Amino acid sequence: MVLSSHNSNRLVLLGTKGGPAIRPGGPWPTSSLLELGGRTIVVDCALGVTRGLTNAGISLKQLDLIFITHLHSDHVLELGPLIHTAWTAGLATPVKVFGPAGTAVYWRGFLQSVAFDIDIRIVDEGRPDIRDLVAVVEFGEGTVLSEDELSVTALRVDHPPVTECFALRFEHGGKRVVFSADTAYFPPLADFAKGADILVHEAMLEEGVERLVARTGNGARLREHLMASHTLAADAGRVATAAKVGRLVLNHLIPADDPEFGEADWIAAVRKTWTGGLTIGRDGLVVELADTRPHKGRTA
Ligand SMILES: [Zn+2]
Ligand SMILES: [Zn+2]
Repeated sequence: MVLSSHNSNRLVLLGTKGGPAIRPGGPWPTSSLLELGGRTIVVDCALGVTRGLTNAGISLKQLDLIFITHLHSDHVLELGPLIHTAWTAGLATPVKVFGPAGTAVYWRGFLQSVAFDIDIRIVDEGRPDIRDLVAVVEFGEGTVLSEDELSVTALRVDHPPVTECFALRFEHGGKRVVFSADTAYFPPLADFAKGADILVHEAMLEEGVERLVARTGNGARLREHLMASHTLAADAGRVATAAKVGRLVLNHLIPADDPEFGEADWIAAVRKTWTGGLTIGRDGLVVELADTRPHKGRTA
């Protein structure tokens, strides 16, 4: 167990856009940091996760628990590079990676791709073997982890064609934070997230999707995929209302970088179905758990 330098429990959104593309000056794909009960918990490892953690004041040496909701690249692409960078920064304590079936294959493949560098640094710099520092645990629905008053539970969500995609619930000392993962509108999430202090839910803006579709060559197919696999903002609000959560935090935003749409559009969409605490995600935004009011950034 690695104690965090922060005493407070907090959520930091490291990357908030849906999908793997990045654009100049735009947001990064989906990764989050949860500091809960003294644990440093990373949820999803998209491109940019390492820089995001560093910017959030985390020493990479304190990497502790990592959870992957599913193996789409906008959630897992930088998992290996994150751990490897932590290792070259002096990581010497075990890291546990929890992910769906296939995570172990990803990790082995990553290790193979950088075997030259790993072997040379062990000899040349006297580093511990990274292969011995990392344990990968593949999980399904139900209890994922129960350790030192921290409990983590998974719920399979609806993200076709991916079947191994899981919402995650983190609980410690009466605090509860739930991540929806990528999912179509999935009413059972409300039970799973019942009474959570924070629900981090993915969201699409309907009029933004229409513009995205209009700009894309294969528009009809894209629209069909998005609607079948992701949740409109108003439906994320419905889940929050049914679950009576303390605060709804929207992430994995689609679209995230269309200048035509801003925070006011997202708020207007969610306010049709949710009247409680609301935060529209953006990279680097911090939500303190003490009062589940956003610590910095604009609020609604
Ligand atoms: Zn995604
Ligand atoms: Zn996905």
